[in-house]
Amino acid sequence: MKNVDLQQRKEAATPRGVGVMCQFYASHAQNAELWDVENRRYIDFAAGIAVLNTGHRHPRLISAIQAQMEKFTHSCYQIVPYESYIELAEQINQLTPGTHAKKTALFSTGAEAVENAIKIARAATGRSAVIAFTGGFHGRTMMGMALTGKVAPYKLGFGPLPSEVYHVPFPVELHGITTANSLAALQALFRADIDPKRVAAIILEPVQGEGGFYAAPFDFMQALRKLCDEHGILLIADEVQTGFARTGKLFAMEHYAVTPDLMTMAKSLAGGMPLAAVCGRADIMDAPAPGGLGGTYAGNPLAIASALAVLQVIKDEQLCERAQILGDRLKEKLNSLRTKVPHIADIRGLGGMVAVEFNDPVRAQPDADFTKRVQALALQKGLLLLTCGTYSNVIRFLFPLTTSDELMDEALSILAEAMQQA
Ligand code: PMP
Repeated sequence: MKNVDLQQRKEAATPRGVGVMCQFYASHAQNAELWDVENRRYIDFAAGIAVLNTGHRHPRLISAIQAQMEKFTHSCYQIVPYESYIELAEQINQLTPGTHAKKTALFSTGAEAVENAIKIARAATGRSAVIAFTGGFHGRTMMGMALTGKVAPYKLGFGPLPSEVYHVPFPVELHGITTANSLAALQALFRADIDPKRVAAIILEPVQGEGGFYAAPFDFMQALRKLCDEHGILLIADEVQTGFARTGKLFAMEHYAVTPDLMTMAKSLAGGMPLAAVCGRADIMDAPAPGGLGGTYAGNPLAIASALAVLQVIKDEQLCERAQILGDRLKEKLNSLRTKVPHIADIRGLGGMVAVEFNDPVRAQPDADFTKRVQALALQKGLLLLTCGTYSNVIRFLFPLTTSDELMDEALSILAEAMQQA
């Protein structure tokens, strides 16, 4: 099979709206490596967009899925329930920040988790408005898209969007927006557009993912919690991209002395199987009436088997610590390149959620072209990297946390070459 042939069939058979980054086609993969149909090998630091914190085909995930396959693959939890759903809910309730009583509902995708978190928040508060942030990403469904703080390409041509969604600038000091600016914008919103007593929820990613790997400042998260408490607004942490050891903690909210009311998670939860969850305060989670939550595939047994194995692997292989170690090594390497690559505007990261931002050194403006060149050169040399950021001038690193030291060394030297040649 040839990549060019598949590319032609793809163009003819599938819509361009499903944008595809690579022009090669996956054949097989193992841990942090992937091979295409022409047997070319890539080091995979895209990890299916933050899904593979435990790597491709972790043997313990494979055997858990296989064992479940021998029993049953689907019964629909809402028709005939199964223990593993309860077991996973119990574990998530226990592992998420806060010692209060919690409940968890399972879904299939991140966007679905976000949709349901908003439904739950509305049912619990009897309020309708939701506040999100510029640069935030929350999915491609109607509400996920409305909450997403970026128009192109996510909202183009897809209106009308759900009403009562408001955006406030996310604090990114690098781009001139301080915590005080964001808080002032919230107050301005309350004066001009919406009574805070009609706001059901404020949703944010503790570290923006698609938006550029910007961590919410500590004082900002604290101020949001205070504001929410003052007005009876629920705080929703979207941990779809930050969760499951990526930031050096099981959940990024553990970096903040703040407990959210609701949390969404997906991606690395099941290490490659489609599974998502909303976890939150028990009283809030119980607000929707029976039958109001769920879905035919929500909490698929194969995906749950995989998720239970993921939680074991994270613990046994100390992947939180590993995220920090690998993230630190990467940042050290990037820092050593600062003098050789004047385009480097910022190197940042929480644990293993590391990014490098590029500016044009003369104009000191975001340099999307340079970023694209680094990405393309790395890919040519066999390292798969993702970009992100409102200005597309950030390279983000989503290496599996199971990446070996040797493979990390190889990736870092490819990265250094690509950055110097770009
Ligand atoms: N929230 C966040 C923070 C995300 O990063 C994403 C996906 N990139 C989503 C929601 C949507 O998840 P999914 O693509 O699984 O619907």
